[in-house]
Amino acid sequence: MVANWWTNFVDIFYPPKCPGCKETVARHGAWCHRCHGKIAAVRSLTMLEHKLVALDSCRVVCEYTGSLKRIIHDMKFRQQQRYAIHLQWLIEQHINKEILVSIDYVIPVPLHAQRLKERGYNQTESIFKNWSVAVGVPWMPELLERVRHTIPQWELKSTARKNNIKGAFVVTHPEMVRNKDILLVDDIITTGITLDECAKVLKKAGAASVHALVVASGAR
Ligand SMILES: [Zn+2]
Repeated sequence: MVANWWTNFVDIFYPPKCPGCKETVARHGAWCHRCHGKIAAVRSLTMLEHKLVALDSCRVVCEYTGSLKRIIHDMKFRQQQRYAIHLQWLIEQHINKEILVSIDYVIPVPLHAQRLKERGYNQTESIFKNWSVAVGVPWMPELLERVRHTIPQWELKSTARKNNIKGAFVVTHPEMVRNKDILLVDDIITTGITLDECAKVLKKAGAASVHALVVASGAR
């Protein structure tokens, strides 16, 4: 009751708005019908086509385009963590809880400690943590660590990307990963090399399967 009253009070002063066009929407986090239609593109990427060897599947919900591109960029480089609820909303709209029944843990692609310190937050955690908890799958970021600072992948040609990311991740508790089905999450996929490298080390540690879920694909 108090929570309802407070929500109504806040909505009067900060009405929920679409992050694409600022039109008023039904609830905080939502996109308007038109902007949502422009970006939504739910699909599974083909592992073979992307030459990914360790990932078992990769599901993407949007196209990396228009206002979504701006929002993801601003979350990463302009301290706009507030956009996380709009990206979480996209995941909620398109990912059915049923596909998670066989998943033991959700793990975000980790940032290096130095980058985490600079940014102050891991944008992937801001997008997926509450969702993971709400759907009832344990959120386990501590199981995967980025131990080597890497050059941002987009600055490199595809041949250099593999070498750049090789050895960047370690599984901290292999015994917890053994025989588990894992869902890796990230904000964007381009070549998929980073996600595949994470899947590689998790499989090496004994994971039974590693799937990926990503907000947007900017894949070639
Ligand atoms: Zn809109």
